[in-house]
Amino acid sequence: MIQANFFDQGVKVEFEIFDIKSFIMASSHEDLSEPLDIAFVEGSVSTERDLEHLQFVRRNSKVLIAIGHCAVFGGVQSMYCFSPWEKKYEEVYGSTDAVTLTKPLRPEPISKYVRVDAVLPGCPIEKESFLKLVSQLKMGVIPKIPDYPVCTECKWKENECLLLKGEMCLGPLTNSGCGAICPSLHIPCIGCWGPIREENFKSEAILLIEKGFDSKEIIKRFSIFGGKERAQRLENLLEELK
Ligand code: SF4
Ligand code: SF4
Repeated sequence: MIQANFFDQGVKVEFEIFDIKSFIMASSHEDLSEPLDIAFVEGSVSTERDLEHLQFVRRNSKVLIAIGHCAVFGGVQSMYCFSPWEKKYEEVYGSTDAVTLTKPLRPEPISKYVRVDAVLPGCPIEKESFLKLVSQLKMGVIPKIPDYPVCTECKWKENECLLLKGEMCLGPLTNSGCGAICPSLHIPCIGCWGPIREENFKSEAILLIEKGFDSKEIIKRFSIFGGKERAQRLENLLEELK
């Protein structure tokens, strides 16, 4: 059974449609004796042990859904940070050969290793989005996230545009689905729903430079949730635009 409390609306909703077999963050009891209909996977793959567990879950699930930015895009642990992962790891642990319980791997989204049937991004995910997703799964529909940017939802809410006011908002490059929650609270979007498929990367970079932002500052903002390849692409682009 799944319970959802909408405290803000004073409503409690209960779904008696799912039998939770394993939810290690909530209970140490689990029953994996039979294959799962649906597995929700959070977190990136950062060690060999993560990878083995993920492969086990994939083999034993009919449908696998990646939830949260880490599982879908790799999370902040896979960010670019102006230096390679090995160097960052050595700074913290001394050596990538350090003796650890399991071999560390460069953090990656789970789709790098296994087939993913659907995704729900966000950092963290939103309860309404998750409940919508489980409702769709119950109806036999594999959910898709909207294919338009946060700006669309922001405009529906008739918000004043922060980018045009000179703030570094990444809404034009970010997948919608969160309801443009940050710009609605006058906070610029930092991209936690991940990049949209057809992003106009160059235009946003040019606009931010025109607004007077420094290249390093722009790359740093993109890097938080943008992933390393994208940050590197941006760095090259800004170099060309100089
Ligand atoms: S505030 Fe941000 S999300 Fe909203 S329209 Fe402007 S750029 Fe887009
Ligand atoms: S507005 Fe941007 S940063 Fe805020 S929740 Fe939505 S995608 Fe994430």
